[in-house]
Parts: sequence; structure tokens; C-alpha cells
Amino acid sequence: MGIEKALAKTGFLTTTVDAVTNWARANALWPMPMGLACCAIEMMAFAGPKYDASRFGSEVFRFSPRQADLMIVAGWCSYKMAHAVKRIWDQMPDPKWCIAMGACASSGGMHRVYGVVQGIDTFLPVDVYIPGCPPRPETVLHALQTIQEKIIKEHSILQD
Ligand code: SF4
Repeated sequence: MGIEKALAKTGFLTTTVDAVTNWARANALWPMPMGLACCAIEMMAFAGPKYDASRFGSEVFRFSPRQADLMIVAGWCSYKMAHAVKRIWDQMPDPKWCIAMGACASSGGMHRVYGVVQGIDTFLPVDVYIPGCPPRPETVLHALQTIQEKIIKEHSILQD
């Protein structure tokens, strides 16, 4: 039997490299937990069995930046700490995404003082901001899904 007849009989599927790559990336985001303050407690709950981030392929928190592609910055960030956070971000391989979790990470929050960075987007390319003090774990799940939707629409193959 020719290949055309075999395919016609059994059915076949067509797709694109972009679609397959983005599907894999979106459903296997491995977070780099950057817990800097109280928001980190809610971030830990996000990864636990009650909120079950494994439904979205993201339960594998990685403490090596080279194995992570999603940085979750949870809590206020001092200028001193910002250098370490940026260095870890730079060590994560591309492509990578970033969540600013909570009012403090997003804007400095209530910490209007000289030693606190007024929003991590002053040194990191934030993809999703989560409001709240502290945000609930459900909002981290929502941020994760927002990034998944963003990845699905991306071109995974570099364009000239
Ligand atoms: S947003 Fe609230 S809970 Fe989160 S780090 Fe700031 S003060 Fe703490």
C-alpha cells in the first residue's frame, strides 16, 4: 500500500513547528522562586497540593537558574538584593518569563524608602504583574495561565 493510501485510511495530523514548540513551552514552565518577603508564603502555597500548579506543568520549582524559565519575584526587593536577582535572571536560559508578585514587587508597595526598588520592572522585563498584599495563590495561577496564553501566540523560531 502506498503512503498516500495508508495516510488516507488511518488519518493524519498537520501542525507547525511554532505550535508544537509553544505547546511544550507553555505546559512545562519551571519556576525560579525568588521569594524575597512575605509574598513568598503565598507563592509556596501555589506550588502545594491545595492549589496544585502541577495541573499546568509548573510544580517543579527549580533552585538552579539554568533549569528554570519562569522567575516569580515575590516580595519587596532592596537595591542590594536587586543585583543578585538580576544576576540569577541573566543565568536563566532564553526564552524566559517573569512575574512580579504583589504590590511590593510591582511598585515598591508601601515601602516608599530609599533602600527599596520601586518596582522590579526597573531592572527586569516583567510579563505579568499581580496586585495585592499579599496576592492569593489563585492569582499566581491566573498569572501563570496569562503567560501560557502569551507563549501560545509567540513565534518560537527566531525571525530575521
Ligand atoms: S505585597 Fe504585602 S505581603 Fe507582599 S511583600 Fe509586600 S508587604 Fe509583604
